[in-house]
Amino acid sequence: MRKLFAANWKMHKTRNEAAQTAAELVTLTAAALPTGREVLILPPFTALGEVKEALGTDARFALGAQNFYAQKQGAFTGEISPGMLLDVGATYALTGHSERRHVLGEDDALVGQKTAFGLQAGLRVILCVGEKIEERKAGKLAEVLTRQITAGTKDVPRDVAPEALSVAYEPVWAIGTGEVAGPAEILEAHALVRAQLVALFGQAGNSMRILYGGSVKPDNATEIVGLDNVDGVLVGGASLKADDFSRIVLA
Ligand code: PEP
Repeated sequence: MRKLFAANWKMHKTRNEAAQTAAELVTLTAAALPTGREVLILPPFTALGEVKEALGTDARFALGAQNFYAQKQGAFTGEISPGMLLDVGATYALTGHSERRHVLGEDDALVGQKTAFGLQAGLRVILCVGEKIEERKAGKLAEVLTRQITAGTKDVPRDVAPEALSVAYEPVWAIGTGEVAGPAEILEAHALVRAQLVALFGQAGNSMRILYGGSVKPDNATEIVGLDNVDGVLVGGASLKADDFSRIVLA
């Protein structure tokens, strides 16, 4: 399975800024990208078209969305459908990002609906999970991950193509805080995620990618990406500058 290096630009960048960063990233990484690596950019909706153009036709560079709504179309003011994302050239989307769960109030059930709907519509979905610091301190890591993955995949067909569903383990306390989970913490959590995927999807669960996210930077990426059961990274802050993110992609 190819390792996935995903850039979550959150609510940053105008169309011009996004196009420029994406183009710079391709220039910095295309020739040197090791085999078996795939790069994904998740810009704000307004810049999807420009980033698609800047990424060109190289299949190692993919476009994705940070969010979508679990309906084909209709009276859902402010929302966007998987079909609209596919139309603009996006092939991936996130569900369950901690900011959607904890800032915008999405619960496990909604995350599950969106994950199943996005997959069924033809998107590759990255389901984000992770514990809050008080849950970790209370010894609830396994309980939280099991609950979020079970609910997040509740309506996903058990024979889903393994390359279509990935899980990003993102401890809430490590997102945007500069505080990165240590290797032992990542190994433990990713082993739990793997076991849960195998319990739910059988052998296919071994071929689903598990990404780590939470303050990944150029200077810690090599170690993180080399850990067992780490099949890529989801990067926020350090993905905003092409130079920083290229060093992560090539780490
Ligand atoms: C994220 O947005 O998913 C993330 C991990 O952010 P950061 O890299 O800034 O912690």
